[in-house]
Amino acid sequence: MYDILIIGAGPAGISAALYAKRANLNVAVVYKGESQLDKAHKIDNYYGFPNGITGPDLYQAGIEQAKNLGVDVFETEVTHIEMLAPPPKSMYGISTSTSEFQATALIIATGNKKLRPAISGIQEFEGKGVSYCAVCDGFFYRKKSVCVLGNKLYAFEEASHLANMASSVTILTDGKDCSELKDLVTPDSKMTIDERKVASIQGDAHVQKVVFEDGSSIDADGFFVALGSAGGADFAKKLGLELSGDSIKVDEKMQTNAPGIFSCGNVTGGLLQVCKAVYEGGVAGLTAVDYVRQAKKA
Ligand SMILES: Cc1cc2nc3c(=O)[nH]c(=O)nc-3n(C[C@H](O)[C@H](O)[C@H](O)COP(=O)(O)OP(=O)(O)OC[C@H]3O[C@@H](n4cnc5c(N)ncnc54)[C@H](O)[C@@H]3O)c2cc1C
Repeated sequence: MYDILIIGAGPAGISAALYAKRANLNVAVVYKGESQLDKAHKIDNYYGFPNGITGPDLYQAGIEQAKNLGVDVFETEVTHIEMLAPPPKSMYGISTSTSEFQATALIIATGNKKLRPAISGIQEFEGKGVSYCAVCDGFFYRKKSVCVLGNKLYAFEEASHLANMASSVTILTDGKDCSELKDLVTPDSKMTIDERKVASIQGDAHVQKVVFEDGSSIDADGFFVALGSAGGADFAKKLGLELSGDSIKVDEKMQTNAPGIFSCGNVTGGLLQVCKAVYEGGVAGLTAVDYVRQAKKA
């Protein structure tokens, strides 16, 4: 059990870890996959680098710095977060592709992820069959046919949850590589994989069918989006955190509306730059430290 678990190893998550660890708490960072920094050819506007630094170098340097300070860093994809015990002695649990972790406080620093794919009808049917959260909306699709858009482990997690309720679950990979899913989806489950490219979602007042680029279609009552890895907004929805668009709402201390859960960096919106992620990470780390100290006294 950790005092503070941080999801994300970009500038926000690592800054939070540095401040929390230096307060002598038991801190872990869990991350998997790209930071926005991986796409940045050169960072020229961040303090202290007279000749700039490449984004990937800055990303790796931050992770190294946290490890050198004694932060436990795990490279594994977070697929689920839940509250195991309520505040003041809170316990949050996270599931990853390889293990489970528990902590008193959580910091979500997963960067920004665009939720809405460019598929005709997606926006029009949001709330009318298009959903971004199986835990939140799965219940509405008992004994109905649903589709899950995605080609990674996260899509499988969402599909597995829906398979407990729906009559059938089709994972739509939209023509993308789905090797990660093929061993997981067994013939005896209610799940199937459809690799055709999706063109549009159609219906009258509610989703009725998914149309593919080759003109063929399948009937569907629900269409769940689960692209890539779960992002901050995906977790926020499951935890009942307030959002503003796709960004997690926080106060000036980086506290979300759920006690013990903090957020920082691109996932909270605003200026999408390293300096803001570092600042917010520092604040989130220190606020989480205060929270854990209070929880220990309770
Ligand atoms: C092309 C480009 C150029 C840029 N140039 C600049 C620049 O010149 N100057 C500047 O200041 N900023 C620049 N930026 C922006 C900068 O990279 C971001 O603002 C910064 O990286 C945000 O930090 P973050 O920690 O919030 O998120 P990120 O750095 O994106 O880190 C997110 C972390 O969360 C992890 N994660 C996400 N989901 C999961 C999951 N389900 N399980 C486990 N881990 C997960 C990722 O692996 C990653 O470690 C640029 C961005 C891009 C794309």
